[in-house]
Amino acid sequence: MGELLEQVAENLRKRNFEVIVAPGKGEALKVVLGLIPEGAVVGLGGSETVREIGLLDALRAGSYDLCDQYEEGISKEENFRRRRRGLTADVFVTGTNAIAKEGALVNIDGIGNRVAGLTFGPQKVVVVVGRNKICDDIHKALERVQNYVAPKNAKRFGVDTPCVKTGECSDCSAPQRICNIYSIIKRQHEPGRFHLILVDEDLGF
Ligand code: SF4
Repeated sequence: MGELLEQVAENLRKRNFEVIVAPGKGEALKVVLGLIPEGAVVGLGGSETVREIGLLDALRAGSYDLCDQYEEGISKEENFRRRRRGLTADVFVTGTNAIAKEGALVNIDGIGNRVAGLTFGPQKVVVVVGRNKICDDIHKALERVQNYVAPKNAKRFGVDTPCVKTGECSDCSAPQRICNIYSIIKRQHEPGRFHLILVDEDLGF
């Protein structure tokens, strides 16, 4: 798998992404924390991977100005205020739903703040991604996200959509549909903005 990760990393570098390959969770956490200066305003995009490597806990415990929309007990208004603030953060931290070998990130978002932050706004973007997210091409990546990731996320969020019952996507029009914004990022305009940590471990889903 290490060879594949290096190949994907090289493809991404040719497209202006900064890439570090980490052998495991612990190393990935250290790399990410090394990219975030103390006192920085930090925005978050939804990501199981960020939780899994212990990054969310580390950000909460550290000396950062964290826009934490996941804090329990906050109102919907405060939740959205923090999501909006995250879009002009110094550093935006998140995962990606899939990554195509050629060097492209594929995501489906419900509200849109995650793909917005990835695309433009935050000065620096840090994305942590496990090896299980690598797909042969963009078509396969989209298929993965639509038919595997989104139904699992719908279940995790506890929304009322057909995929929660069937485990399969039916391209629904349920009011609580979570698949609203589709994003493919093929290249970065600004060198040095976008940092990817490719982890040689399965993370998230
Ligand atoms: S489009 Fe609807 S059915 Fe398909 S994964 Fe999204 S929420 Fe589920």
